[in-house]
Amino acid sequence: MMAARLIQLCDTVGTLYMMNNKQELIQYYRWLRQYGLNDSHSGNASIRDNDTIWVTPTGACADTLHEDQLVACYLDGHTGEGASLDAPLHIQVYQANPQANAVLHSHGPHTVALTLNGEDFQPIDFEGQYYFQTVPVINIDYQDYVTQAPARVAAKLAEQPITVVRGHGVYAQAASLNLAYKWTCSLELSAKTAFIARLAGKA
Ligand SMILES: [Zn+2]
Repeated sequence: MMAARLIQLCDTVGTLYMMNNKQELIQYYRWLRQYGLNDSHSGNASIRDNDTIWVTPTGACADTLHEDQLVACYLDGHTGEGASLDAPLHIQVYQANPQANAVLHSHGPHTVALTLNGEDFQPIDFEGQYYFQTVPVINIDYQDYVTQAPARVAAKLAEQPITVVRGHGVYAQAASLNLAYKWTCSLELSAKTAFIARLAGKA
């Protein structure tokens, strides 16, 4: 079992090694959509290449996005024309956390639903507790989102792999796209598990 998983992992890493960074970003953004963590046009994603940050464009469709449509932004705060409205947030995450090379934003429905109470989320399953212990939930009035979200999300992601903005979605940072994707998927599965446990009257 372990050997099979290892071979599968090597295969995946090998395939991704052949891609350039921008192709890899497109692939992960598409997977977020494909596996139910975003809808066709929600969420956004970025990677850092030294002082350049490649960000998905505003209104990007995950099903059709091409690497030529990614928008160059910069660590000094400059955002390229047509970048996601969250581009300033991505930049501030990289400014606050020099270890971050990738940022993914998604709308995992179980995570968003279970954190509507505004309280930090504590996974009940073994793996969720092992990875996160507690996932911070940021409360921002919807009308203040654009002005407050960048600094508040960046402050959390300077110390944590992942955070939730109440009623909106999930932001994850990591040294690689694959790891940011892992945090995103793990949190959503933990939230789904907690949701099912509550429905079953077990939690
Ligand atoms: Zn969003």
